[in-house]
Amino acid sequence: MRLKPKNWLPYRYRRYYTFAILTLISITLPFIIINDAHFLLLSFDYFQFHLFFVKFDMQELYLIPILLMLLFVGVFFMTALGGRVWCGWMCPQTIFRIIYRDLIETKILGIRKRIKNKQQEPEGQYIKKTLAVLIWTFLSALATSNILWYFIPPEDFFRQIMNPGEHYILFGVFLSTIAFLVYDIVKLKEDFCIYVCPYARIQSVMYDNETVQTVYDPIRGGEVYRDGIKINHTKSELLASNKDADCTLCDACVKVCPTHIDIKKGTMQLECINCLECSDACPESLITWTNTAALKEKRKPNYLRPRILLYGVVLIGLTISLFIVGSQKEFMLLNINRTTQLYKVKENGVVNNAYTFLFQNTDSKDHHYYFRVLNHEKIEIVRPLKPFLLKADKKIRKIVVLRTKELLVNDNTKDTPLPIIIEAYAIDDKEKIKIYRNTTFIFPRFDKLKK
Ligand code: SF4
Ligand code: SF4
Repeated sequence: MRLKPKNWLPYRYRRYYTFAILTLISITLPFIIINDAHFLLLSFDYFQFHLFFVKFDMQELYLIPILLMLLFVGVFFMTALGGRVWCGWMCPQTIFRIIYRDLIETKILGIRKRIKNKQQEPEGQYIKKTLAVLIWTFLSALATSNILWYFIPPEDFFRQIMNPGEHYILFGVFLSTIAFLVYDIVKLKEDFCIYVCPYARIQSVMYDNETVQTVYDPIRGGEVYRDGIKINHTKSELLASNKDADCTLCDACVKVCPTHIDIKKGTMQLECINCLECSDACPESLITWTNTAALKEKRKPNYLRPRILLYGVVLIGLTISLFIVGSQKEFMLLNINRTTQLYKVKENGVVNNAYTFLFQNTDSKDHHYYFRVLNHEKIEIVRPLKPFLLKADKKIRKIVVLRTKELLVNDNTKDTPLPIIIEAYAIDDKEKIKIYRNTTFIFPRFDKLKK
């Protein structure tokens, strides 16, 4: 029998600590506001995306592709390194199931006798079971609110949810998410991980020989299954095939398994969520977090292999790109549209071009804005004549008229579009808030000027 090291903290407690930290972070983050921005928020009300306490307008969603790449490469990295470590250690489904089954059903209400036996579904006890569902419904409402705070900030969420008549879509989403969570956690249970979750289906293609998984040691324990078929049913059969076999066939590892599998069958079982409860339960320490190759060669898993290093480099590159692109955020936006009339010819050959400028203040402060034509001294601004105030997070549409009194082009055959560059800026912070837009000034045919 191989004992666990002294001061060994069972995986179960390590997971509980991880869950507590993740829960605390996910509940606290939406309430932290810096510079009027949240850590992570996708707001459809304000058409805004907040990341690392910087606000981005929906027109600035160039960060999303980088974020998606980070997500996908992160999933590849995590799975190649630690198998379904997400499932056992971070997934809300697992956390919710532990709260419901191990905390509410077992510890608080005593419906289940022992955390170490997850196979036996309790009979009867309908009052306690109803109470468990009610407690979970309340917690589901909290969890749903927490999810929604990443789409509707808490400062708006509580006001809106108290007025279901005015915010019926939010209220509908709120109620249906609670209903789903109750059905999922009370009825569907780990079947969600096995049959519904798409990650469970695809994760095995991301594994390699060094991926860390929950592994039963058949060398020390004895071969209980061969090619998925149980070959030794009793301790004496097992000892007959391997006189040093340590496995007692007590099946403590099977009883504790939330997905109802027998890890002695091997590592290629889709259902295993890497929770390592079986490792904690095994009195002979025959189940460890390693891989089959490392187990056979009696060594540690190789974490620093080329594939992992490559993922690591890509992840670092993407993170740096995210910060670089994020730091180039524009604190104002400007869309320029031309009006339907190309130009107007006035007395003495004066030519006017009209535009619609849509200014948007994406900064958290109010600013006065104005603009100039950068590359044509002979084109001047007729309207608006003065800078204007635009409050934080607001948009304003301005009719802009540009004029020239000069003969810019002498062409008798066609109108000439002249490329111009508009420099728009906040007059109170021109260094930081300044953008450039290209557009055209249409200069008429020469004969039209004479008319
Ligand atoms: S075999 Fe079961 S108990 Fe063991 S890690 Fe996998 S899911 Fe958890
Ligand atoms: S808990 Fe350990 S000793 Fe018991 S059956 Fe499982 S592997 Fe064998």
